[in-house]
Amino acid sequence: MTAVMPRRHGGSARLATIFLTSDCNMHCSYCYALENKFDSSTSWNTDSFESILDLLAENSYQLSIGGGEPLTHPDLAYALAEKSSKRKIKTALLTNGVLLNESLLIKAKKAGIQWIQISMDSLEQAKRCAAAIKIGHELGIRMAAGTVMIEENIKALGDIHNILIENNAFGWRIFRMTPLGSQQNLSEGSGSKQWIDLLLRMEESPGLKGSPMQIRYEPSILPIEWLVSLPSEMKLEICGGRTSRRIFIYPDGKVYACGLPSQRGKQIGNFLKNRDQFISSLSKKHTISQWPSGSGSLPDRLVDKNYCTRTCMGGCTQVRGKLACDIRCDYKNRLVPVCCFEKLQLSRGPDRQGLIFYPSEIYNSIGSPT
Ligand code: SF4
Ligand code: SF4
Repeated sequence: MTAVMPRRHGGSARLATIFLTSDCNMHCSYCYALENKFDSSTSWNTDSFESILDLLAENSYQLSIGGGEPLTHPDLAYALAEKSSKRKIKTALLTNGVLLNESLLIKAKKAGIQWIQISMDSLEQAKRCAAAIKIGHELGIRMAAGTVMIEENIKALGDIHNILIENNAFGWRIFRMTPLGSQQNLSEGSGSKQWIDLLLRMEESPGLKGSPMQIRYEPSILPIEWLVSLPSEMKLEICGGRTSRRIFIYPDGKVYACGLPSQRGKQIGNFLKNRDQFISSLSKKHTISQWPSGSGSLPDRLVDKNYCTRTCMGGCTQVRGKLACDIRCDYKNRLVPVCCFEKLQLSRGPDRQGLIFYPSEIYNSIGSPT
């Protein structure tokens, strides 16, 4: 472990995602937008941008522009980025990279976008996006990749890493396949044993340990003893939505504490229809009674015997389905869920900040889960 202590593991303290569009030119099985097609009568406009950005600036949020694929509507995406950066909100663009070219990168830079994260779920995608990473870096944008780590692509991690390094990527985010609501997607997600195996193998992929690039991974489930032993300022959040640390904003004015309104998202207000109520909700802690809790009662067990009911409260509503608890939870093996927005560092990158947590250090304490 290294010495500098971050306030958070997951990057920004408060992050808002604006869902610019549900249009996309790809069809990824884990995508939020597949469960969240917008009503075609609703769309963003200058007034609604201004209205929400003022609130984000006043409440110290950073902004991610997402979707769907925001670059299916580049003029809209960049108009939003320009207004956001004028308010000194740190602004990022999340893209699948298919449409990203030099001209769009130059416009992104002019619009004030500081961070672009490109989905890179295969070696082919990494090769296809290599030039964009290089050009973006030369323009002074922090270019990053996001990879959903599944068995099929783990062998490619070393090669993807090489491409990112050669083209001066700033960062890389490694995600667990998040099973969304449908039964089909639930069965595609890896169980805790498989996920931990993948994390341990990721750590051993050539070049990742000690990489010059910042690499963060989503632990997803952690040994309870390890989690509760962390000092409070370093604890990983069980659910950022409950504290309005993560908010998701739609063009009809509705704001959710997580990204899946059509299924289980908790609406915390509407910045167009009831601004005062929405503003007050930003400072509220959303309790379990306000969340879709499914059927059944929460268990009361583990190290801290109130951990389940007082702290976890069932884990992530995105992957809870109709159950009271997160389907990833594996309390029999002393593994409990944390929010997918929480990321731990495998390497610190150019900023040289934050702690490194190797999966082998974290998961060794639980032995081999069955
Ligand atoms: S998801 Fe797991 S840790 Fe959370 S309340 Fe349920 S059993 Fe407890
Ligand atoms: S734990 Fe799940 S529901 Fe809560 S903010 Fe994280 S992803 Fe959303």
